Amino acid sequence: MIIERIWAANDFRNFHYLIACPETGEALAVDPLEWRRCLDAARTRGFTITQILNTHEHRDHTGGNAGLVAETGARVLAHAGAASRIGGVDVGLARGDVIRVGRSVELECLDTPGHTLAHICLYAHTEEPALFCGDTLFNAGAGNCHGGSPELLYDTFAGQLARLPDGTRVYPGHEYLARNLGFTLDREPGNGDAAALLERSRDTAAEDAVVTTLGAEKRINAFFRLQNPSIIARLRERFPDLPEHPDGRTVFVKLRELRNAW
Ligand SMILES: [Zn+2]
Ligand SMILES: [Zn+2]
Repeated sequence: MIIERIWAANDFRNFHYLIACPETGEALAVDPLEWRRCLDAARTRGFTITQILNTHEHRDHTGGNAGLVAETGARVLAHAGAASRIGGVDVGLARGDVIRVGRSVELECLDTPGHTLAHICLYAHTEEPALFCGDTLFNAGAGNCHGGSPELLYDTFAGQLARLPDGTRVYPGHEYLARNLGFTLDREPGNGDAAALLERSRDTAAEDAVVTTLGAEKRINAFFRLQNPSIIARLRERFPDLPEHPDGRTVFVKLRELRNAW
């Protein structure tokens, strides 16, 4: 499996991805808003884009479908529950579906609500597994829940993402690393891993941003550190009614609430 990350260089700070079969050169484009950049990258690499996957229905993920379909004839795949809002979807997806790209790539569909109520993450069971997580999980952060549900996002994090192997590479839909590390450090000032990565990221252009793993996320992402004593103590300063040993769901939802205004 070949993964090409494409920096959109737009105000939304999108990352697009081409996932290609090394044997046939067929490729799937993930959320190709800046579709010309995706097409250029495919041509440079000798790939043929045959499929488009939308992780969810927001325009900053689907707005490139029409242009890329017109150029390539690619089929559009999306969560069955989001298809009518996206329009032009050829294949509606559900939990456990497997997307094949060329002869060698298989991507499992995870049903991951929270940011929206119908959101797909793709998981590749390769030697170095990979997770394409749209606006569910960001590097060092979690998606907002303005059109979704923080409780459902907690269920997705705790019940699905946290259980994937620590070596899983994380490929989110946007580049928000420094801002999210700032939030982690605001909640947990003694987090040395987050501080070191923030320091490193200052000298790194967004298009060269680090690809984290889930193991790293568990060290730098407040939304995976729900039992951390510093995070709980800081939350109790803000929410005095919080019990001394709150459950993970409560901590997650409060962190998400704070992040909305941070
Ligand atoms: Zn979104
Ligand atoms: Zn987005």
